[in-house]
Amino acid sequence: MVGTKEMTVYEEVNVFFDRAAERLGLDDGVREMLRRPWRELQVSVPIRTDDGAIKVYTGYRVQHNGARGPYKGGVRYHPLADLEEIRALASLMTWKNALVDIPFGGAKGGIQCDPRTMSETELNRLTRRYTLQIEHLLGVNRDIPAPDLGTNSQTMAWMMDAYGQVHGYTPGIVTGKPVELGGSVGRDSATGRGAVYVLREAANDIGISPAGARIVVQGFGQVGSWTVRLLADMGCKVIGVSDVEGGVYNSGGIDIDALLQHKLSSGTVSDFPHGDRVTNEELLELECEFLVPAAIDKVIHGGNAAKLKAKVVVEAANHPLTPEADDILNEAGVSILPDILVNAGGVIVSYFEWTQNFYQHQWDMERVNDELGKIMTRAYVAVREKSAAERITMREAAFMIGVGRVAKVVKMRGFI
Ligand code: NAD
Repeated sequence: MVGTKEMTVYEEVNVFFDRAAERLGLDDGVREMLRRPWRELQVSVPIRTDDGAIKVYTGYRVQHNGARGPYKGGVRYHPLADLEEIRALASLMTWKNALVDIPFGGAKGGIQCDPRTMSETELNRLTRRYTLQIEHLLGVNRDIPAPDLGTNSQTMAWMMDAYGQVHGYTPGIVTGKPVELGGSVGRDSATGRGAVYVLREAANDIGISPAGARIVVQGFGQVGSWTVRLLADMGCKVIGVSDVEGGVYNSGGIDIDALLQHKLSSGTVSDFPHGDRVTNEELLELECEFLVPAAIDKVIHGGNAAKLKAKVVVEAANHPLTPEADDILNEAGVSILPDILVNAGGVIVSYFEWTQNFYQHQWDMERVNDELGKIMTRAYVAVREKSAAERITMREAAFMIGVGRVAKVVKMRGFI
């Protein structure tokens, strides 16, 4: 068991990396090269706030590994976004893109800010200034940002516009844009849809019928809200949902259409009247078949892992489990579907968007979802087979496939 109290999120992700590297028999030099980010940029992002003051934020772009293609990864706006977190998320992108076998390296960016307390005009100014501070690292064949926690298609439209002011019209410089500006249909639902594909395959393998299965989802943003919607369409019983304000629980199943309406009017799911209010901590401990963390990292840790009553944890968020929690749950026989597999749908449809931008074409929804399904299923099957063949966890199998592919390409390219 790993004692993780003082570990940063980057160190924690590297526990998973090191386990895979060990099993793959990579030598120390290769490990060190794959572990470390290739390039990191920290920038000051000063903006004038609406009341006329000047406020200076800190932004980052970390390019973790570019061996398999242009760097690719989201941009996070969050009060706790720091270099260690962005590094961790960038490395997860490297292993994820390799696992699902799309031609990208891994990157991540972010600004330490609280977008919930900022006006639209402040966010627009912040995004433009940040883009100009990092634009020399970006390029359609170099590094392509996308939305993540606290950012959305509007943020990407501002980034594309700011980049275009320097370089000319370049829709492929970001993905997750509005469809009207060259975004792909199906990108907004893609991460949730991919998670649901994985959940459905796993349910089938484990022998749990998705119809009527009890589901708990933490986080009701881009990923969580689509996951909930699609699971409800599949006939699952969503019994608990939360956002940063707290959650709601209804053992009989939550009416998702009513919940979506409520969220639109009140801005939160936590005060939905048809259920009991629960805290985020209580929500994670609800008895259910599938628990889907879809908010922030490290929510399941050594302090609460043993209290979980879910049969399967579906990691829609990035790094929701610490290695200590991972060990406790594996020991207890809980199935864990790992983040680099479960939430890859977003970057897969980003890849479709990027290719559509190259030839100024637009796929229809059926094609997007069909191709997404094929890639997710192929990756799931590969992970499941490796996990069974080597008697290792799904996470170990997923990391082994991802890390192994990057290590192979690094050698082929002759870096070492
Ligand atoms: P989002 O900003 O759209 O939504 C985040 C949700 O989490 C909101 O409902 C928010 O209220 C809730 N939340 C925030 N802090 C919380 C806390 N402390 N406790 C409980 N809930 C909290 O973000 P998103 O794009 O849905 O991303 C969610 C997760 O999924 C992140 O880990 C992100 O890295 C990961 N992810 C996102 C994508 C994507 O396409 N957007 C792709 C892959 C992975």
